[in-house]
Amino acid sequence: MHVAIVGAGHAGGRAAEALRAAGHKGRITLIGSETYPPYERPPLSKELLAGDIHHEKTFIRPANYYDEAGIELMLGATVSAIDRAAQRLALDGGGTIPYDALLLTTGARARRLALPGGEGSRVFYLRDIDDALALRERLTEGTRLVVIGAGFIGLEVAATARKRGASVTVLELAPHPLGRVAAVEIGQYLASLHRAKGVDLRTGVKVTAIEDMGDALRVTAEGCEPVIADYAAIGIGAQPNTELAAGAGIETRDGILVDEFGRSSDPAIYAAGDVTRHLNPLLGRHIRLEAWQNAQNQGIAVAKIIAGGDAPFSEVPWFWTDQYEVNLQMSGAPDRWDRLVWRGEPTEPGFTLFQLLDGKVVAAVTVNNMRDMRFAKMLIQRGKIVDPAALADKAVKLQDLAR
Ligand SMILES: Cc1cc2nc3c(=O)[nH]c(=O)nc-3n(C[C@H](O)[C@H](O)[C@H](O)COP(=O)(O)OP(=O)(O)OC[C@H]3O[C@@H](n4cnc5c(N)ncnc54)[C@H](O)[C@@H]3O)c2cc1C
Repeated sequence: MHVAIVGAGHAGGRAAEALRAAGHKGRITLIGSETYPPYERPPLSKELLAGDIHHEKTFIRPANYYDEAGIELMLGATVSAIDRAAQRLALDGGGTIPYDALLLTTGARARRLALPGGEGSRVFYLRDIDDALALRERLTEGTRLVVIGAGFIGLEVAATARKRGASVTVLELAPHPLGRVAAVEIGQYLASLHRAKGVDLRTGVKVTAIEDMGDALRVTAEGCEPVIADYAAIGIGAQPNTELAAGAGIETRDGILVDEFGRSSDPAIYAAGDVTRHLNPLLGRHIRLEAWQNAQNQGIAVAKIIAGGDAPFSEVPWFWTDQYEVNLQMSGAPDRWDRLVWRGEPTEPGFTLFQLLDGKVVAAVTVNNMRDMRFAKMLIQRGKIVDPAALADKAVKLQDLAR
């Protein structure tokens, strides 16, 4: 049986490995548009952008691993179409690849700023190694950087740019950072952190144009004075690469729609990672995540299914970010909550914030307090009613509440 994997990113790379580990003896072809072997993206806005590591440190396996494992790695190759009837892939520039099972791990791409000046030689997006290396080169002592969007990537870029001595302005449309993904209180906490580190963070402002004046950019926005900067970094979210699947008539809904086994609407086609909108059995609904854990573990879980396994992918969503000396972790994917419980104060060096709905923990955020995370995930997974006073009381062990 020939398994073709389209997208040689984190999910695709881990899936190829896991297929071999699960005893798949047939052919495995891993096809990726990029020229690098599968790598992890979190360091792109952190250690790699800071200049602390070489880009090869991000590779999930050394480049020679694939040959040794009998995985045909085709880099710099883009799949342009899927012929589902013939079970065959078409490559950009010619050539076809047959498959018996197909795994789509095409990930996501940076959302572009659809405004005058949204593309240009002084404007940067951050999705791949080349983006990070190009931006890193520009971030030197005294560089003026404007970051558009105060989501995770925008804030990480701001923190790393400060570390490299740049002066940083962040422009955000919403009243707080992380408006799409976190409680307002966490956005406020990060806003204070960045301001304390010297970032000029302006919220509630709407960027209207970026003008390249030759030697600098002029960014105009409703709600604040124009910003003059040497470079702009745009972090306004990501879009799943669903076009290949949709073009072949596979069901998509802001993500390739898959079940808890990674199965798409075509029984021979599976998907994993950022590109999926997958059924999470713990939450009882479909979600799309852009997170390292999801890419890695869903890739592995779906590979095992393809190799003949029967265990669903079922995990509490988890994400982390590092900014300055702060490690922030989040678990759960709530669309609403009716109560917040603080375990510690946001003024302390470390604390945990729980989000509750109907007395149950549905999400948790730890700030420099990762030891709470394991038990927070257990609380979310078990879904039992907890006493908010006990949750807030640091003298009460979380593991006792999570049991
Ligand atoms: C800068 C940055 C920082 C991040 N930091 C964190 C973090 O701190 N914590 C965290 O949990 N998560 C973080 N993430 C998210 C995490 O890296 C992603 O969730 C993960 O990379 C997704 O893996 P993936 O394999 O699904 O997709 P990708 O890694 O996007 O891989 C998809 C690959 O498929 C290729 N491809 C697409 N279409 C085709 C085609 N038609 N033919 C061939 N190849 C194709 C793409 O070129 C790409 O190489 C970060 C992401 C970025 C960009």
